[in-house]
Amino acid sequence: MALKIVSMKRLWTLTFLGIAIALVGLIVRLPAPRPFDPAFVRLSPLEIARLPLAVRFDQPMGGEHGALTYNAQPFRLNRHLGDDLNGIGGLDSDFGDSVYAAGFGRVVYAGTPAPSWGKMLILAHRVPDQETAEKTHVIQTVYAHLKEIGVKTDQLVQRGEKIGTVGHADGQYLAHLHFEIREGPYINPSVGYADAPLNRISPERFLAQHRGAADDLLNPPPTQPTPSSP
Ligand SMILES: [Zn+2]
Repeated sequence: MALKIVSMKRLWTLTFLGIAIALVGLIVRLPAPRPFDPAFVRLSPLEIARLPLAVRFDQPMGGEHGALTYNAQPFRLNRHLGDDLNGIGGLDSDFGDSVYAAGFGRVVYAGTPAPSWGKMLILAHRVPDQETAEKTHVIQTVYAHLKEIGVKTDQLVQRGEKIGTVGHADGQYLAHLHFEIREGPYINPSVGYADAPLNRISPERFLAQHRGAADDLLNPPPTQPTPSSP
């Protein structure tokens, strides 16, 4: 009987302690776990399979062939890992101009990874191999220093679709678009300058290999003559 009384006392003590801990937990909030940062991921095989097949790429500013733009700092000049695309007006004249998806792709990163990058977008594309068209590989197009981001992570975007606007990374640079092309499935903001090219390839060379056929430069005639017409 004495043993039972002790057990009851212990039970009450434990219950009281439990309620006290719960109350303290309500008052003293533990810091919430950091949300998963999608900036540093490798695309899974399923995610790669879900990437749209992109067979053609165009310039991301001006017209599809980069009309009214110029390349102020080409790939590998000054250890640069991309192209710095500018409106022909120079200075900040292109601030707020449209930035277009270079190819049919999926948004795999949209955010501000570091002050020097400003707002940044990464699209991933599945591109047929040059030798055997049945095989594909992952290509990323990167758009940085943006003023505004107009798309969301995981969104599908068509080639030529507006995805953001040209910015200056909160006044750090004269307005321009830092544009890179990267190979492989590792999604990481990384760096814009390095001694080695890392996984970057020349945007100008890549676009020259994947732009539309020469006929695409011409608009089709407004009416097609038919053989039966008099
Ligand atoms: Zn740059």
